[in-house]
Amino acid sequence: MYSPNSLGADPPARRPRDGSMPATAASIPAVPSLPHTDALILLDEVTKRYDGDAAPAVDGVGIQIAPGESVAVMGPSGSGKSTLLNMMAGLDRPTSGTVTVAGQRIDQLSETGLARFRRRQVGMIFQFFNLLDDMTVADNVLLPAQLAGMPAAKARARADELLTALRIGPHRNAYPARLSGGQRQRVAIARALVNRPALLLADEPTGALDTATGQEIGELLADLNSSGQTLIVVTHNPDLAARYARRVIEIVDGRITSDAHVTGVLR
Ligand code: ADP
Repeated sequence: MYSPNSLGADPPARRPRDGSMPATAASIPAVPSLPHTDALILLDEVTKRYDGDAAPAVDGVGIQIAPGESVAVMGPSGSGKSTLLNMMAGLDRPTSGTVTVAGQRIDQLSETGLARFRRRQVGMIFQFFNLLDDMTVADNVLLPAQLAGMPAAKARARADELLTALRIGPHRNAYPARLSGGQRQRVAIARALVNRPALLLADEPTGALDTATGQEIGELLADLNSSGQTLIVVTHNPDLAARYARRVIEIVDGRITSDAHVTGVLR
């Protein structure tokens, strides 16, 4: 599935295997200023039932996330993590309760309103990248900007800025199938950021990557958060969470079992 919408810390100690310089906080373009709200995301008594008879996938959850936070959502498989993320992204609606993002009650939006919300406020990255294989790297990154009506010259400049910061500029005319997993995920991150979303949401972003590449992506996410990007990542990977998250929410059977601010972040 393609979502039209789907990056700051110290420079990574390791040099990428392709010999190029790593992306750094200073090289990653700044994130937008947000409309003023106390919480960027506010979930109140949110329940999601896919099937009336089954136990709810998400069960009476309340969460408040401030602008600039980096949050890891952890828990066993099937515990409701993706469902929660999808409701924050406006990809799914709660059965009951309210979801407010950037001051907007997104559970009340029409389909058109939701599509507009996703284009403007949300960047998403996925385990399997979800790039369009018949489009070049540059066109994949440009597409959400085009869908959002960004003027062509501005969109090209923004895409170029991100492709360079994410060290995929030399691959701009390649097709995704020619790239490594880590390069594909960096393209997906560029695509997610092209419209300067308030929220960057990631669902198991290192799940298909080897350990070293996963760490590289974790460092990029950490760099992004250090530059102000609000970041929420669903992951099974404690190393990834330790690399960027300042807050860890654990969910079991659709309910929050712990919500803790982390002090010993590996950054
Ligand atoms: P996690 O991301 O923690 O693995 P999910 O949010 O994917 O958990 O799933 C939570 C529960 O909701 C699971 O029981 C899963 O089978 C169910 N579920 C998820 N998506 C759907 C769907 N589209 N239709 C029906 N049930 C679903």
